Amino acid sequence: MISIGIVGGGIGGLTLALACRQAGFKDIFVYEQADRVEGLGAGIQLSPNASRVLIALGLKKALDSIAFYPLAVHLRTWKSGYLVAQRPLGQFSEDRYGFPYYHLHRADLHQVLLDAALAARVTIATGKICSSLDTREGEERINFVDGAWAAHDVVIGCDGIHSAVRNALLGADEPRFTGHVAWRGMVPADRLPEGLIAPAVTAWMGPGKHFVHYYVRRGELVNFVGVVEVAGKSQWDNRGEESWRAEGDKAEIVEDFHDWHSSITTLIDAADHCFKWALYDRDPLPNWSAGRVTLLGDACHPMLPYMAQGAAMAIEDAWVLSRMLENWEEEINQGLLEYERYRRPRTNKVQLGSRAQGQQFHLGDRWNVLKRNFRLGFGSRFLPDVAMQQLDWLYGYDCVKGFD
Ligand SMILES: Cc1cc2nc3c(=O)[nH]c(=O)nc-3n(C[C@H](O)[C@H](O)[C@H](O)COP(=O)(O)OP(=O)(O)OC[C@H]3O[C@@H](n4cnc5c(N)ncnc54)[C@H](O)[C@@H]3O)c2cc1C
Repeated sequence: MISIGIVGGGIGGLTLALACRQAGFKDIFVYEQADRVEGLGAGIQLSPNASRVLIALGLKKALDSIAFYPLAVHLRTWKSGYLVAQRPLGQFSEDRYGFPYYHLHRADLHQVLLDAALAARVTIATGKICSSLDTREGEERINFVDGAWAAHDVVIGCDGIHSAVRNALLGADEPRFTGHVAWRGMVPADRLPEGLIAPAVTAWMGPGKHFVHYYVRRGELVNFVGVVEVAGKSQWDNRGEESWRAEGDKAEIVEDFHDWHSSITTLIDAADHCFKWALYDRDPLPNWSAGRVTLLGDACHPMLPYMAQGAAMAIEDAWVLSRMLENWEEEINQGLLEYERYRRPRTNKVQLGSRAQGQQFHLGDRWNVLKRNFRLGFGSRFLPDVAMQQLDWLYGYDCVKGFD
């Protein structure tokens, strides 16, 4: 039986470890650079294409106990709050796709994945920073910054947007600064006026900016993300800051959204801390694998967050890769190529779709805004079935049932 080395204990790496365990593999090692495997203080939406996989891994009860179930998606205009369009979630998601749409706190999701991985006897080594890879005597060797190394039959880079494994395989990439800067924050729900935040994911669309909020952790917290196009684009170009942890000056986000709807200004006022980071974009990669090494999640297809699908794609990757390893255990190189062949068209589509979605949210020209609002509003009000069908390819994707 092959031994599997996973670099990175994020959502993708832990899900892969669980999926490989469920596929029958026993020697599974996760190497995480941080001293603890933990999620960040931010929210995450998990659509049914991803919840389907986590539920197949036996996590339904644990997820149900930490989730918030949004009833709908609301698209609103930035100042008046006019409801441009809406789409049902909640029971509708379960009826149409068979699986829930979850809103979660990332730290809670991480804990669920970590507990399950430990219970499944996955070996998790923390404080292990991968620096490079070597192939020796038929084994793939992961080299760590502390001078140690580990050898496995197959190595998967799940080490996120700044992937050391991708750099070792394909060379360093050159991300483009999008000109977009994201703010995020989290507010206890009981600190806010009752009824201020609907039990939905609400996206407010304005010229050059948008703002999204939703409940997490059973409705106890409200997560928000505000995205702003910055004017002095060049000043950000070489900063290379793609970090979830950089705290920003709250006065700046207050200023960025000061003339927006009062729901937003009230929410921002109630936040103790706001975090800020630059959003970079990358083109889809032409290939992900070499020999018995491949990539998964943000390491191979980092995407802008505007379709809320980055983690969902990592989770789908994890399931498909685990089954390809199972099916091609005697020919791992081929199994990795099959995984890539199967996954790349879908992740390319979502990566490029996310880019386009950001442009739609930020339209400023009055005529284009009218056209967008008419298109979205008409579909949602008069042709709801057609509007629903438009996302079936995304939410209805079923890798669990098997693939060709
Ligand atoms: C504002 C924002 C909102 C988002 N909202 C959503 C959403 O609602 N829904 C959704 O599906 N997606 C969302 N995403 C995307 C999602 O967060 C990512 O796609 C997802 O976290 C990727 O998971 P991953 O496991 O590939 O990488 P990561 O979560 O980045 O995990 C990588 C892991 O590897 C470790 N690591 C890194 N380098 C090394 C190394 N050299 N050696 C060892 N370990 C290493 C890291 O410490 C980390 O634990 C959002 C993204 C942003 C920016």
